Amino acid sequence: MGIETESTETPSQNDGPSNFIRNIMIEDIKSGKHEGRIQTRFPPEPNGYLHIGHAKAICLDFGLAAEFGGKCNLRFDDTNPSKEDTEYVNAIMEDVQWLGFQWDNLFYASDYFPQLYEWAIQLIKDGKAYVCDLNADEIRAHRGTLTEPGTDSPYRNRSVDENLNLFARMKQGEFPDGSRTLRAKIDMSAPNLSLRDPVMYRILHLAHHRTGNQWCIYPMYDYAHGQSDSIERVTHSMCTLEFDNNRALYNWFIEQLGIFPSRQYEFDRLALTHTLLSKRKLLKLVEERLVEGWDDPRMPTLSGMRRRGYTPSAIRNFIASVGVSKTNGITQLQQLEYFLRQDLNRLVPRIMCVQKPLRVVIENYPDGQVEEMDAINNPEDSSAGSRKIPFSKTIYIEDDDFREDPPSKFYRLSPGREVRLRYAYLITCREVIKDSSGTIVELRCTYDPATRGGNTPDGRKVKSTIHWVSADHALPAEVRLYDNLFVKEDPNEVEEGHDFTENLNPDSLQVLADCKVEPSVRDAERGTKYQFERLGYYCVDRNSEDGLVFNRTIGLRDSWAKIEKRGA
Ligand code: ATP
Ligand code: MG
Repeated sequence: MGIETESTETPSQNDGPSNFIRNIMIEDIKSGKHEGRIQTRFPPEPNGYLHIGHAKAICLDFGLAAEFGGKCNLRFDDTNPSKEDTEYVNAIMEDVQWLGFQWDNLFYASDYFPQLYEWAIQLIKDGKAYVCDLNADEIRAHRGTLTEPGTDSPYRNRSVDENLNLFARMKQGEFPDGSRTLRAKIDMSAPNLSLRDPVMYRILHLAHHRTGNQWCIYPMYDYAHGQSDSIERVTHSMCTLEFDNNRALYNWFIEQLGIFPSRQYEFDRLALTHTLLSKRKLLKLVEERLVEGWDDPRMPTLSGMRRRGYTPSAIRNFIASVGVSKTNGITQLQQLEYFLRQDLNRLVPRIMCVQKPLRVVIENYPDGQVEEMDAINNPEDSSAGSRKIPFSKTIYIEDDDFREDPPSKFYRLSPGREVRLRYAYLITCREVIKDSSGTIVELRCTYDPATRGGNTPDGRKVKSTIHWVSADHALPAEVRLYDNLFVKEDPNEVEEGHDFTENLNPDSLQVLADCKVEPSVRDAERGTKYQFERLGYYCVDRNSEDGLVFNRTIGLRDSWAKIEKRGA
């Protein structure tokens, strides 16, 4: 039934709420800064898959550029070969496009290694950089603290010639890892610690995913980022708040080199309850096989969310709703789920699936008869049309929809009670069949032939409508139910000496292997999304070679489950 369910609307923040970065852009355009040109970039490090936090940066970088007729580059910030890989590069490109954005230019910070090296030599010649023989621990010890100034490195006053010579030999590979660095000569007593002679280059004898073994010195983030922005003539370089302290250094390099004056603006990081947004920690879950992979449907990665059944538009709408500010906060996961349900409700067709089948035989229904019942595909979308679903003497209903001894306010099926079968007939339960251990194995019911389509000609009331599938026609399916990956609202909240993985939810995945789904989905393609009536939103998993596998994207709000919980 391959109904196309992705939204085709092009993303734009045009009608989104204003924010301070947008206001700065409006001012800059008004004042004619950079001739009113807006250039942004999204700069992921290819050391993991993108997560929902990155979606916020993507929506801002691409969204604001688009709004003001500007351009946005995708730039891989690949200056640390030890963690980077082309697998991540490819996944990031796929995810950005899936989210609905297209870059104007594709760049790699590693493209700029030769230029960055030239600029380093210029800084050495200007007496603004020096080769330092302190190791990482010694550099840290010399740095001082917020309340105490640092102390000068004993190598700070090397001559320009000696620095040029040593730096060239660093590049030639004469020295082992960690033995020397190139540092900017700024001010060891600067109140901002990032200005205390920061390291510009380190020695790393490691192959790079693009430049191979061409380099054994690699630029640090602070030395590479601003200059890369400047090379691309980025006007507004947006990043998250933790880079606030790096701004002064960002500006220092650009000023000393006299190059295009890109400017950095910091915004708040997205944080979500029950969710971990750190590539490093997500990598640990993958490496330790605590999840199935980067695209495990429980992961907050864009690839995991895609596999789970999220739509790009639900994510974009959510991101627009959280806004942009200058203080970090925490957003409730329910806010994301709200936008997901809203989107899916509008977009996806309804079908019937029984997750925990209970066999029902309709005693007075003719043997061998099959009727095709009319079912509406999407009440929210009349253009989605309708389909036929087979009805016959033996059906399955949801085990939860029957109680032998119904509590008050339980209006579904129970002995002697009548309910409506969605799109079919009213049935009344006459007899409960159990096996020798007392487990209910079958219900015997009767139907009222005058109620086809669910109507009651005499106007009698039935309080409940339940879903069903015809036993002979239903397809077997596996359904995977997901819950929060972490039990704690803050997955990072652990006692001293403990690890965040201890907060993993042991019940985050529940597999229902014996589900029955209506036959209309027989040829459903991977990724196709449905609402299972009364249960929730589901999509066909990519691993459906040996039979249909559905991921539950998200449940509907179940009114009875709520009543029962309250009563418990
Ligand atoms: P992580 O800690 O998960 O590795 P990162 O910031 O190191 O994240 P980068 O690849 O460097 O990841 O990020 C690319 C861009 O995405 C940066 O501009 C960064 O500020 C932004 N970004 C990362 N995480 C978030 C988040 N949670 N909310 C908003 N923006 C984010
Ligand atoms: Mg990073």
